[in-house]
Amino acid sequence: MDEYIHISVDFDWIPGSDVPISRLYEMFDQYQVKATLFFTGGFATAYPHLVKQAAQEEHEIGCHGLNHGIDAHEKFDTGVAYTVQKELIRTSGDIIAQITGEPVLSFRAPYLQVCDTTLKVLAELGYRIDSSLPARRFDFGCGSISSVRQFRKSCHPHVIAVGQHRLVEIPPSACVVPLNMRMLRTFPFFIWRSVISLLSASHNPLVFYMHPAELAHNKDITIPEGACMGFYRNCGPLHFQTLERFLKYLLHRGIRSETMAYTYFKTVDLAPKVCIT
Ligand SMILES: [Zn+2]
Repeated sequence: MDEYIHISVDFDWIPGSDVPISRLYEMFDQYQVKATLFFTGGFATAYPHLVKQAAQEEHEIGCHGLNHGIDAHEKFDTGVAYTVQKELIRTSGDIIAQITGEPVLSFRAPYLQVCDTTLKVLAELGYRIDSSLPARRFDFGCGSISSVRQFRKSCHPHVIAVGQHRLVEIPPSACVVPLNMRMLRTFPFFIWRSVISLLSASHNPLVFYMHPAELAHNKDITIPEGACMGFYRNCGPLHFQTLERFLKYLLHRGIRSETMAYTYFKTVDLAPKVCIT
């Protein structure tokens, strides 16, 4: 089977989290990874050269909110007004688009929190891809995803119709625990290798995500007030080795990387034409 993975990076706005990026881009280049990089407007404003470099290296450039990382309240749930959500997403998208010279079409929400209002805003702003709704994940109250309804949703890329507009939802992969850098940092190789085997039997593409701060020394970054300190434990440049092991394992399994735009076109082509009304 033609197996592939989306390797995505969520650039929360954490001052100092630029430090490991050059090495990360080099590793992506070495392993022929075309990644999908979701930038917050705050990070893009502080380090525009890293956004520009990513675009030049043909990674896909997406939006991850405006000040998420610094602003612990930037969550797009039902309690946040339409006008507030629209302003945050529009401002961030504009910052990123001005740097790359291209419209931003892909979105991942801070804390993976979206509601119907967010989807409406994304549609109105011309987004094509959302990757914020993990299925088969449950954090048991210790993270942002503890909803049975969400757990049971489709874990495959699918079209969400929002009025006249269609968004392709590309769910981050999970097998109760998410397929992310934290999993690689936490569990030994034989465990996460088994999780990937299990997931790849039912998920194509796989969707992996990570954060730059996970590859930085704690001393280099400003850990935001109110952040979950457990998340920043056991982080640091040593996990470049963990990431490299993961990328080597994918190569060994013949799982190649693609940007989310690849899945967008595949999904839209396969979607019933009746959706276009
Ligand atoms: Zn984030």
